[in-house]
Amino acid sequence: MSPTITEVDVYDIRFPTSEQLDGSDAMNPDPDYSAAYVVLRTDAPGGLAGYGLCFTIGRGNDVVAAAIGTLRPYVVGRTVDSVTGDLGAFYRLLTHDSQLRWLGPEKGVMHMAAGAVVNAAWDLAAREAGKPVWALLASMSPDQLVDLVDFRYLSDALTRDEALDILRRAEPGRAARAERLRKEGYPAYTTEPGWLGYSDEKLTRLAKEAVAAGFAQIKLKVGADLQDDLRRMRLARAAVGPDIRIAVDANQRWDVAEALEWMAALAPHDPYWIEEPTSPDDVLAHAAVRAGQPVRVATGEHVANRVVFKQLLQAGAVDFVQIDAARVAGVNENLAILLLAAKFGVPVCPHAGGVGLCELVQHLAMFDYVAVSGSLEGRVIEYVPHLHEHFTDPAVVENGRYQAPSAPGFSARMVPGTLADYRYPDGPVWQAREKRQELTR
Ligand SMILES: [Mg+2]
Repeated sequence: MSPTITEVDVYDIRFPTSEQLDGSDAMNPDPDYSAAYVVLRTDAPGGLAGYGLCFTIGRGNDVVAAAIGTLRPYVVGRTVDSVTGDLGAFYRLLTHDSQLRWLGPEKGVMHMAAGAVVNAAWDLAAREAGKPVWALLASMSPDQLVDLVDFRYLSDALTRDEALDILRRAEPGRAARAERLRKEGYPAYTTEPGWLGYSDEKLTRLAKEAVAAGFAQIKLKVGADLQDDLRRMRLARAAVGPDIRIAVDANQRWDVAEALEWMAALAPHDPYWIEEPTSPDDVLAHAAVRAGQPVRVATGEHVANRVVFKQLLQAGAVDFVQIDAARVAGVNENLAILLLAAKFGVPVCPHAGGVGLCELVQHLAMFDYVAVSGSLEGRVIEYVPHLHEHFTDPAVVENGRYQAPSAPGFSARMVPGTLADYRYPDGPVWQAREKRQELTR
């Protein structure tokens, strides 16, 4: 008999990263990287459970945690088989509650909460199957995969039959690509040198270290001050030489005219892409930025759902699609976005960093390579070397490449000590911080 899901545990976990300015950019000067962390507990002997999370940058993490709690009635008391046996139905159930849907639809806090629970169910399914999520997905037939997707609002750009064709075309090469992935890994780039709050000295040192560590691409945060950005771009270019790609990321800072002016000034230093030049909702502004200056446009980490990705692709507004594992409603919706990107021939270069985002999204990019796009051409996954020690199966990057995970699951499980130490606001790390602040008041 199948075990039952007995509880959905939700934790508000926060790390005081603002103390070091790690993660600082033009819109987010002092983030405390956080996770609303979900555990689907079961009554299976041996403690089978599913783990998932939403990434936030501090305040509001409790709001996401509360939103996850509203989904309990869809999960608690169900058999594991009834969830993992039809993950397409489970995803549609969570995203189409007739009352909760009013809070979106399919965007924002409620949608991210659904994503955390959907991803936890995928983690559970993969642990049960004894496979990493990328390999579990890559073992499914094209028919099984399209059943996971909600094609509502997509069919003017991608039909179920077209999706099937894409997956069937990639089927013959799956085994060879999985083999290559296990041997060679998947290309990564690093954002480590480029946080806006770092000094020139630290930027130069970290840029050189990134090249020495085997990365062929780094990324700089831009958008607060043009003269500073020109200086930092020159320093980075001098540090890495002409052959290493330098992407830049404005984190939504600009209107269109500002983006055009700024990128015209940076263009002589050969930026590889401009990421999030403007509002993530503004498809037409992205198209205008792409048309109005010479640097390629990337976006996606704040794109709310598959419908906005569809429009970005239909409008020819992006050169790179940056999926995020925890922004949309989990694996299922990201599968729709991977298929859309494949249909339009646009490479997927996932957003990562944060808390657990590298751990999760590597599975989606690797599955894309094995069973969807079938290509590594122009593709690279973001990597940031923070906070991996809090996971039981941390992402491993060697010589500038993500190594294919082999442990069963979605690499989403946190170590138990972290849940005790960093729980907000009552964990010892936050209690000690509160005391220090009282003393300086
Ligand atoms: Mg970014």
